[in-house]
Amino acid sequence: MKFVKEACGVFGILGYPESARITFFGLYSLQHRGQESAGIAASDGKKIRIERGMGLISQVFTEEKIKSLKGHLAIGHNRYSTTGSSLIANAQPFLFQSDLWSFAVAHNGNLSNTKFLRKQLSRDGVNFTSGSDSEVIGHVILRSKGRSFEDKLIKGTALLEGAFSLLILTKDKIYAIRDPLGIRPLVLGKFRSSWVVASETCAFSTIGAAYKRDIRPGEILRIDKKGLKTVVHNGKNPSAFCIFEYIYFSRPDSFINGRLGYLTRLQAGQELAKEHPATGADLVISIPDSGTSSALGFSQESKIPFLEGLIKNRYLGRTFIQPEQELRKLGVKLKFNPLPEILKGKKIVLIDDSIVRGTTTAGVVKMLKKFGAKEVHLRISSPPIISPCFLGIDIERYRELIAHGKSVEQIRRKLGADSLGYLSLLGLKKAIGEVDCDFCDGCFTGSYPVEIKG
Ligand code: 5GP
Ligand code: MG
Repeated sequence: MKFVKEACGVFGILGYPESARITFFGLYSLQHRGQESAGIAASDGKKIRIERGMGLISQVFTEEKIKSLKGHLAIGHNRYSTTGSSLIANAQPFLFQSDLWSFAVAHNGNLSNTKFLRKQLSRDGVNFTSGSDSEVIGHVILRSKGRSFEDKLIKGTALLEGAFSLLILTKDKIYAIRDPLGIRPLVLGKFRSSWVVASETCAFSTIGAAYKRDIRPGEILRIDKKGLKTVVHNGKNPSAFCIFEYIYFSRPDSFINGRLGYLTRLQAGQELAKEHPATGADLVISIPDSGTSSALGFSQESKIPFLEGLIKNRYLGRTFIQPEQELRKLGVKLKFNPLPEILKGKKIVLIDDSIVRGTTTAGVVKMLKKFGAKEVHLRISSPPIISPCFLGIDIERYRELIAHGKSVEQIRRKLGADSLGYLSLLGLKKAIGEVDCDFCDGCFTGSYPVEIKG
């Protein structure tokens, strides 16, 4: 069985008659967090029903399916998997049913002690149906001692290590849970008289809900018809919020730790222009869409005009979705069309938010030159990614990372750019500003807030 790693989006609502429909729209706005499979589990107070499938929300859910998910509480999940784990068996939420308990689990993040827990559970006779660490979570809860479900949940989640933002649905409650380091986001909002929880606040904007607060690191929040109750509050200090959420993963219209993500990206571009100016360049362009906010910031700070130089095909999806490297390469050509009249004879500053493997970036640099750009000065609004993510972002292996073990000059040469500058970690933190958390920046430093046991 292949163990899977994944970044994901989760959404939940309690206290609304058509909870599955609202969850559908919530997941729709979190689609960027996962495109591979989607699912919703809903309860009418007596029975939990579930629908899951491969693909985008709009591909998985028909009107009929949404209607069949009856009830006033629901949770949903978008999954974003890595190589080899593109299977319906890994689609979430997972439903767990025993004689006594029935509940559904939607998980965003990666446990760092999956192997250990799986081994123990297998020894106890658990048969796993997937390679997902999220299935492990359900079994850990089921096997934990306790008279009530809540007791079992508290005992079970205490055994988990690593990154987990969890929504657990029972027949009449939702539990919203964040790991003690608060690695992945999870936010609470109010929609009319019902409570909503989501990976990002953009889901609240979409449905017209009001953001209330973040679920706190180490918090287990019970949501039921009586309202909210924090049953555990066990956060660690310092916390370790994933810094990559700011750079790439979260949508720019989400409030991240209470501050609009767009402002961070804009400011990261300004900081980048201070750290690595491109004196004498004619034009700033971005690799759309993820590089655009920082490109505007760079342009503001440097006074070099910003124009669009590449038009993105919005309907292709992301090159990362294709786990195979060959398909990724083709993806670059399919994804962007250059604007020759804009590029011809120009010295260009090309901005992107990050370089992971370098496939997209090298492809774009080559494309710009082919279409007449005189020089391409690459500027990246985050530091070099030198180390994988073990906690929920699709940056899996050292050998895939173009920056692993290479100097900036070596990377520049590989990418074919005329110059290359990365924003420093300090510059990035400046752009994030004063927030009420500390960060996991393992992808930039190689040092992680938890021991990665596999
Ligand atoms: P590369 O040059 O490494 O092939 O691609 C860099 C691009 O990948 C950047 O534009 C960046 O926005 C994007 N990127 C970074 N991390 C991720 C991720 O986890 N998923 C997806 N889909 N794209 C990513
Ligand atoms: Mg991008």
